Amino acid sequence: MLTCAGSPAAAGAGTENNASALARKGTTAIEQRRFGEALDAFTKALALQPDDATLCFGAGVAAFMLGQDEAAQTQFERALALNPDYLEAAVWLGDLHYRAGRLSEAIAIYKMTLRRSARRSDIEAQLATWSKEQELHDRLRDVRTEHFSTFFESLSDEPLAREVGERLEKAYERIGSALGSYPSERITVVLYTREQFSAITRLASWSAAAYDGRIRLPIAGTWQQPDELDRILSHEFVHAIVTRLGGRTVPAWLNEGLATVLEPFSAEDANAPRARRRARPELSTLDQSFVDLSRRDAEIAYSSAARAVQRLIDQRGVCAVVALLQDLGHGATFTSAFQHRIEIRYEDFAALARN
Ligand SMILES: [Zn+2]
Repeated sequence: MLTCAGSPAAAGAGTENNASALARKGTTAIEQRRFGEALDAFTKALALQPDDATLCFGAGVAAFMLGQDEAAQTQFERALALNPDYLEAAVWLGDLHYRAGRLSEAIAIYKMTLRRSARRSDIEAQLATWSKEQELHDRLRDVRTEHFSTFFESLSDEPLAREVGERLEKAYERIGSALGSYPSERITVVLYTREQFSAITRLASWSAAAYDGRIRLPIAGTWQQPDELDRILSHEFVHAIVTRLGGRTVPAWLNEGLATVLEPFSAEDANAPRARRRARPELSTLDQSFVDLSRRDAEIAYSSAARAVQRLIDQRGVCAVVALLQDLGHGATFTSAFQHRIEIRYEDFAALARN
């Protein structure tokens, strides 16, 4: 099933035939973020012990991280069918539904869990947040274009929703053609007031928009600035493609860098005044999401990420970057996929990227 370059050499026959050894191998691989290996180990273990809920959960976590959401959902549901008190499986399944935009399913799973859980406060807090979001979403209406559904609350925002859909269709063509990848599933976009956006995403005030399975866009101000609206929509659409291609293990610098480089008019920005800085951060410090950074650190992070990705594209072409993402989605580790597709060791590239 897995044909990734990062798979290890086959383990000894003893390991292959022993479900608990495979489970340990899978757990270690998850701890070390080698999710392709983890999925492989748990899948083999499940072939030996199909009724073990913890193996289903392990396979589910690995599949989820690889962006294989249907497989992950099946495994979490199997884990819960085998053990209805399996809190972690319920939490991950709820999160999976939420990120897929299935808020009512996420809420139903959490409500069921709440009845069975001793750890009530976390579950209750999340449930309260999601229920508020659901209340808002029940009031929304949407306009549809070929690939996007854009939701909005107030009738006065309908023209903006139509415009957002139309601009996204243009981004779909432009970016799809640049990356050779056109998502087939419909993408949901939600327009919020700034207050609603902050309450639901809890992102820093510098955030212009977000993608977490849906494109979430605060309306304030963007309406009057068509170029800025195009930039934001195109940026978030790239995140949607990156998640579909590469799953959830793509380093933030690669994800944000690609989204920034593919923004319209991005070429001029590379040398913009705000890109001036004292020292460039190590790429390895830019693996995790930028959302918790200060505005200033975020600017440096985005500009460093864009510069690194532009360098990748200049050296190997955008297709190599797409192939790298696909390898990650198939379970390769980042360093092996990087070396395979970019033909240079990641450490060497990262060292060069500081200059
Ligand atoms: Zn972004």
